[in-house]
Amino acid sequence: MNILVINCGSSSLKFQLINAETEQCIAKGLCERIGIDGSMISYQPAGGEKEKTVTPMPDHVEAIRLVLEALTNPTTGAVKSLEEIDAVGHRIVHGGEKFTQSAVIDDEVMKAIEDCNELAPLHNPANLIGINACKKLMPGVPMVAVFDTAFHQTMPEEAYLYGIPYDYYKNYKLRRYGFHGTSHSYVSKRAAEFLGQKYEDMKIIVCHLGNGASISAVKNGKCVDTTMGLTPLEGLIMGTRSGDIDPAIMEFIAHKEGKNIDEIMTILNKKSGVLGLSDNLSSDFRDIEDGYFAGDENAVRAMKSFCYKVAKYVGSFTAAMNGVDAIAFTAGVGENGPIIRTLVCEYLGYLGITLDEDANHKRGVDIQISTPESKTKVLVIPTNEELAIARETARLVK
Ligand code: ADP
Repeated sequence: MNILVINCGSSSLKFQLINAETEQCIAKGLCERIGIDGSMISYQPAGGEKEKTVTPMPDHVEAIRLVLEALTNPTTGAVKSLEEIDAVGHRIVHGGEKFTQSAVIDDEVMKAIEDCNELAPLHNPANLIGINACKKLMPGVPMVAVFDTAFHQTMPEEAYLYGIPYDYYKNYKLRRYGFHGTSHSYVSKRAAEFLGQKYEDMKIIVCHLGNGASISAVKNGKCVDTTMGLTPLEGLIMGTRSGDIDPAIMEFIAHKEGKNIDEIMTILNKKSGVLGLSDNLSSDFRDIEDGYFAGDENAVRAMKSFCYKVAKYVGSFTAAMNGVDAIAFTAGVGENGPIIRTLVCEYLGYLGITLDEDANHKRGVDIQISTPESKTKVLVIPTNEELAIARETARLVK
C-alpha cells in the first residue's frame, strides 16, 4: 500500500510517497511559492537525482497536479499510474478538543477542521485547501487527517488550563493544546522500543528542538504536559519565537513604541527567540553554534538562554511525572547539535546523567548518548513525522 503524505502550508507543500509495508520513502519533494511569482517544484525519487523545476503554480490544485505528474512521470516517476497511490495522509495542525486521534476525512471531519480555523488561522485553512485539491484530483482515494494536537489531548485539566477566567475556556476553548504531537508520539514510542522497555510503564521526556521547539512529558504512554500552548508561541525560546514571556511586556512595548497588537505579535513570532536574543545574528542554530565556538557574545547569549530554558522545562516535567526514565532529543537541532545536548545535560546532574561524548557526536541514527551507568537514559531519536502519518493513514484505511 502506497501512501502519499501531504503537509500543506499557505504557499508551500511538502510531500512524500511511502510504502506502508516496507516503510520506505519512495519519492519526496516540495512545492514552493504557490500563488507567488517564481513557483518551484523539487522532486526526488529514492536513490535518484533531485530535480528542480520552476513552473507557474497559481494555486494548490496546480501544485498537487504537478506532484502527481512528477510521481507518475514515465522516466523518473516512482509509480506507473495514480492507481498505485492507495491513500493520502494529511498533516493537520489544529484539531482542537474534537480530535483526540487521527480521522478518515469525510464532510463531517472537514467541517470540524474548519471549526478549528479560529485557533490556527495561518495553518488550518491551508491544510483544508490541500485536502480539497487532493479530493479534486484524486476522487475516491481515501484520505486521513493526522493532527499535530491530538497526542496532547490526554493532558489533564491542571496542565492544559490557563490561570485566567474560566469563562474563556467555556466560551472560546482557550486552553493549552500543544503541537508537534506526531513527532512527540513517534519519538517517545521509539525511545521505549529502543530501550527494550514497555512504553506503558515509562516516564519519557521528548525534546523536539527545531526551528519551532517543544518538549513533552509522556507518562505511561500518554502525554501529560507539553510546552506549547494555545498556539506554538508558548514555551521554549525558538528560532524566531519568544516562547514564554510576562504578558505585561506586550503592554509595555505597545505604550513605549506606539505599536498595535498585530505588530507586537509579529515581534514575538518572527523577531524574537535566538534571532532576537543574538541581536539579529541568526535564527539558524548552525550559525549560533558557529558563533558560540568562535566566542561571539551574541551567539553565546542566545545559546545559553536557549539551553537553560530547555533544562528548566526538563526539570519541571520531571516534577510533573514524579521522575523520568529517559530523555530523547529530536528534530533539526536536537538531532544535529551535540553542543546543545551537552549544555542542556550539564544542568541535569541531579538526574544522575553523564554523557558519552563519543556517542553524542554520532549522527543520523537512534542512539543512547548517556553512559551505561547513567541513572536516566539520554537518547537521540531522529524524528520521522511523515512515516508516522503514513502509519496512521494505513491503519485507518485498512
Ligand atoms: P522546523 O521543522 O521547525 O523548521 P527543523 O526540525 O527542520 O525545524 O530544524 C531546523 C533547525 O535545525 C535549524 O535552526 C537548523 O539550523 C538546525 N540544524 C540543522 N542542522 C544542524 C546542525 N548540524 N547543528 C545545529 N543545528 C542544526
